[in-house]
Amino acid sequence: MAIFSLPTKIIAGENCLAQHSAELAALGKKALIVTGKSSARNGSLQDVQQALTQEKIAYTVFDQITSNPSIELTRQAADVAKAHDVDFIIGLGGGSPLDSAKAVAILKTNDLDDTALFSGPYPQPFLPVVAIPTTSGTGSEVTQYSILSNSHLETKTSIAHPGIFPKLAFLDARYTLALPKHITINTAIDALSHAVEGYLSVKATEFSQIFAEKSLALLGESLPHLAGDLDLPLRDSLLQASTLAGIVIAHTGTTAVHSLGYSLTYFKNIDHGRANGLLLTAYLEFLSTEHLDKVNAILALLQLKNLDEFAALLQNLLGAAETITADEMALFSAKALKAPNINNTLTKPAAADLILMLQKSLTVSA
Ligand code: NAP
Ligand code: ZN
Repeated sequence: MAIFSLPTKIIAGENCLAQHSAELAALGKKALIVTGKSSARNGSLQDVQQALTQEKIAYTVFDQITSNPSIELTRQAADVAKAHDVDFIIGLGGGSPLDSAKAVAILKTNDLDDTALFSGPYPQPFLPVVAIPTTSGTGSEVTQYSILSNSHLETKTSIAHPGIFPKLAFLDARYTLALPKHITINTAIDALSHAVEGYLSVKATEFSQIFAEKSLALLGESLPHLAGDLDLPLRDSLLQASTLAGIVIAHTGTTAVHSLGYSLTYFKNIDHGRANGLLLTAYLEFLSTEHLDKVNAILALLQLKNLDEFAALLQNLLGAAETITADEMALFSAKALKAPNINNTLTKPAAADLILMLQKSLTVSA
């Protein structure tokens, strides 16, 4: 059996916000824009403000969201949403502002402690969310996930609920034109890991595979060019690949790479996409034992001959890996085994398998 559902209306193309601002009017009269400092400084905030003014929608801006946002910071944004009694939330930026915006949409109408924020129950319906990505990586604009740094559990924890699928996603690659090189690379590799992990998830269906295949094909064409100057068509390809991969993980979830990667980000401050990218080759090696046909299909979609070429492509983009200690490897693998998404992995890894993945992916120090 296969089910496919995408409740998000995607509006894509240059100037799509200005041309389709009327879509916003259906969501209410007062909006909160949840964004970060750089996320807002690429023409996107100006476009959003113009669109809201055009539709006579009042708005407030919360621009304090930082990378890997915490529960506490998200609550600050939710307090602003409550103080202004807004009707809907606009997430503008990378995955961090988008994920915070989704959690704000929950917290505006529901009084929840930190545990219930992730688990529910949620007595009240959430506010509608509009998502406008300014990075090409997370696909958060088309997923039902919001991932927050959770100091109680010392990891990143997901809220997964159909009510936080954005109602609207506006995709305009112009907003990503000035993304610094390392963020472009890290976020593109996040999209790659979504497409790869989704393709290899126990929840993959014939529908999700179509999206994964198209995303991998676009990434296969784009990734070798990331080191050079990126023009608008290439930026557009990356944004498309990222959204397609988001549609994939909305159906398949992520797998062991993300389960392990969360600790690399939480404890070692390694960017989310980079953390995944460091682990991907060892993960594919691990799955090659039982699922060589699927791994080879991924390599072919990426226009690569073998895993060595895959490793070289990533090494070229990511450079030297960070160091890790034996204690860290034990801790991170134990945490990954408790992450719900590890159960989506085609061959479920044991602690020893995860430690081996970390050993192969990072530089082991004393
Ligand atoms: P991000 O943390 O949102 O942003 C990374 C950096 O890029 C920030 O410093 C940000 O600056 C800057 N930035 C964003 N847009 C820019 C632009 N157009 N020009 C210049 N700088 C810009 O990174 P991300 O990789 O997109 O998101 C990562 C987060 O998403 C993680 O928390 C991850 O767990 C989550 N995630 C969510 C999903 C999902 O389905 N919900 C999936 C995968 C990952 P400012 O902070 O100053 O704005
Ligand atoms: Zn990710």
